[in-house]
Amino acid sequence: MNISDAIAALDPKHGIHVDGRGTGADRTFTVQDPATTLDLAEVADAGPAEATAAVDAAARAFPGWAAQTPRARAELLRRAFDAMIAETDLLAGLIVAENGKSQADARAEVAYAAEFFRWYGEEAVRSEGDYAVAPASGTRTIVTHRPVGVAALVTPWNFPAAMATRKIAPALAAGCTVVLKPAAETPLTAIAIARILHDVGVPDGVVNVVPTTDAAGVVTTWLEDQRVRKISFTGSTEVGRRLLRQAADRVLNSSMELGGNAAFVVTADADVEAAVAGAMVAKFRGGGQACTAANRLYVHADVADRFVGLLGAEVEALRVGPGADADAQVGPLISARAVDGIRALVEEAVAAGATVAHRGAQPEQGWFYPPTVLTGVAPDSPILRQEIFGPVAPVVVWDDEESMLAQVNDTEFGLASYVYAGRLQDALRIAERIDAGMIGINRGIVSDPAAPFGGFKQSGLGREGARDGIREFQETQYFSVEWT
Ligand code: NAD
Repeated sequence: MNISDAIAALDPKHGIHVDGRGTGADRTFTVQDPATTLDLAEVADAGPAEATAAVDAAARAFPGWAAQTPRARAELLRRAFDAMIAETDLLAGLIVAENGKSQADARAEVAYAAEFFRWYGEEAVRSEGDYAVAPASGTRTIVTHRPVGVAALVTPWNFPAAMATRKIAPALAAGCTVVLKPAAETPLTAIAIARILHDVGVPDGVVNVVPTTDAAGVVTTWLEDQRVRKISFTGSTEVGRRLLRQAADRVLNSSMELGGNAAFVVTADADVEAAVAGAMVAKFRGGGQACTAANRLYVHADVADRFVGLLGAEVEALRVGPGADADAQVGPLISARAVDGIRALVEEAVAAGATVAHRGAQPEQGWFYPPTVLTGVAPDSPILRQEIFGPVAPVVVWDDEESMLAQVNDTEFGLASYVYAGRLQDALRIAERIDAGMIGINRGIVSDPAAPFGGFKQSGLGREGARDGIREFQETQYFSVEWT
């Protein structure tokens, strides 16, 4: 099936998935292909009424879903994993079409996204509590974990499948029902996932998906609805802060996966070729549009020339093009605005003395920015202080570990970082001093459903993945039992 037929079969004009059915709205919005800027689909544009209908469905479904045995929930989650894997071609095709990433990146995202269902299927049956003798009184304490209730999920466009499943899977495992608002740039993948979950037998109302261009209207409707007991958000720190302020009015249980500014540290005795290979993944996967993307490369002076030379050769050889081309390695950015923003950041850095040391290809059509290596970047340059979210690698040379670490930690963000070193204990010494939730040691990727994903400082609150992820959707309750 070609992608236009697949999108037509999805019937996105009825893409509001509520109570197990696709419904439309008074309005639609257009999704564009960032590689061609052509229109891909018209999608139902939900408003507050549809947002409330989604909560109605989720609230109705909650008691039944929470009462299912963990094994029953686990088996459905496992079926969801199998179905997503079976639908890899469709899901990867949708991701390539609406997000623009390469086919390899899209297929890797589908595998990663599906894995959350397998992991949390396995975790659903292991959410044990605790039993203790109170130290002084001898009373007995029984600790249990209950599903928090209806959860509102809000996701970004950069991983249209994985950011949705990283929330849906633990929520369902815990016994919660969900209302999900995907990003308006990439709603098609989320609609397809809702259909897949429906087809494997997830009961009506347990997963509801509400595409919209009125993000603030829909999410505010949810935050103000007393039946919604949880907000789980992935996106920018700016929007996360706004949602936290709104959530404060109801002291709403909140999980925030926000922006990053990852450092990529290379020591003097690192395996330079391995470091370059790691940097290519950490920087150019998804065209650099990842919260974990290496934003600043700190390379020891002894190996800097070699590192930049090898990295530059790789960057110049990158095949840049539409993800629909099977051999493309780096696709377009998500929007014309993103391209303009990155161009401005690079121009500013160059005006302050940086050099464009290497540059890759730039297709003429579509929202592309050429993969770029910058050297001689001033330490206070804005490009080192804010998320680039694009294929630009600024290299900073260091020779003093203390001052390098001070620069690495001089950021409001603390999501991911990377350290390449010859000896594990040097890598760990540096990693233990970096204020970030996830550190890749001699590897350029940190995402793993079985590991706790999340950040320090203004990169967020809470963790997704691992055992931690299910706790985000549970309330802890204990019973104090008289013992006389
Ligand atoms: P964004 O904050 O603009 O949007 C994220 C989501 O919030 C979208 O669904 C959007 O429609 C919605 N939104 C926007 N304004 C809103 C409002 N006023 N009220 C309610 N919802 C609103 O972010 P983005 O551009 O889609 O994604 C990129 C950002 O996401 C980057 O900062 C990146 O680092 C971050 N991100 C973080 C993680 C993580 O796990 N920490 C993962 C992926 C992306």
